[in-house]
Amino acid sequence: MYSDWILAAGFFCFGLIFGSFLNVCIYRLPRGLSVVSPRSACPECHTPIAAYDNVPVLSWLILRGRCRRCGTRITPRYAVVELVCGLLFLLSYLQAGFSLEAAKACVLCFLLVGLTFTDAEHHLLPDRLTLPGLAFGMLFSLVTLVPGPSYKLFPLHFPTPPTNLQLNLQLGWRSLLNSLLGAAIGAGALYAIGWIYLKLRKAPGMGLGDVKLMAMVGAFLGPLLTLFVLCTASLLGGTYGVFLLLTVFRQRLGRYRARLGPQAPRRAWQAAHVALQGVEIPFGVFLCVMSLVAWFYGVAAIRGYLRLLLIPG
Ligand SMILES: [Zn+2]
Repeated sequence: MYSDWILAAGFFCFGLIFGSFLNVCIYRLPRGLSVVSPRSACPECHTPIAAYDNVPVLSWLILRGRCRRCGTRITPRYAVVELVCGLLFLLSYLQAGFSLEAAKACVLCFLLVGLTFTDAEHHLLPDRLTLPGLAFGMLFSLVTLVPGPSYKLFPLHFPTPPTNLQLNLQLGWRSLLNSLLGAAIGAGALYAIGWIYLKLRKAPGMGLGDVKLMAMVGAFLGPLLTLFVLCTASLLGGTYGVFLLLTVFRQRLGRYRARLGPQAPRRAWQAAHVALQGVEIPFGVFLCVMSLVAWFYGVAAIRGYLRLLLIPG
């Protein structure tokens, strides 16, 4: 009983600490800096941050989001990343217990939280997160089962009752196959979307970063949940795009109405399109968030959706 609570608290604290390290990554990776040295310092006055001012979440609250030395505001992102990471590690433990599955969930959460915030702030998905992530996803598939069609395609077959090793080997390569299939579908779909986008808008809208991100996600989630991520993230991104377009349209309409009269709606619509031409929708953020949702609740969501379709009323 008590050991459950201690383990849960342990996962939460580990999450806070890894979140703290993520903050370093989010700041330094896009700038091409080392994440190991030098020590963290205030970006404004360059005073190294003392250990007692580096406690996740608490320090930010105690210092009220300001540098102790110069009083420069420190973005709440630091505390948010730490807290989100802590909660996701805790959720990993609550869903999977003290297991390899939970360790895999924590690694995935760490990577996705880092990528979400780096993409939101810098429009970048660093290779130094996605490529090791892809490798981790494939390695974990050898020791935790990745859902997918390979178990049905290649049924387990033994001439005699198998030893544990034989069983794990047979399950392992099927799981790895699902992982590879997920990576191929994720990367392939994003590459195709990028290509279509390029042809339609004559401007690169999707970077290779998104392709590598979805390869990583596919390796962790397998093909089925990867498709779930692709569909829901596109819906979410599309909705966000339409929302932006309508917001700008309304602003312009208000400005043009007095001057242009009945011409105003058409001109405002054109102006909104022009205004959004250069705006990049951070699609990586939607992909990362939906990947987290898919990992924890994807199977339940797909089941619920199918139930809605199959049972009327
Ligand atoms: Zn300072």
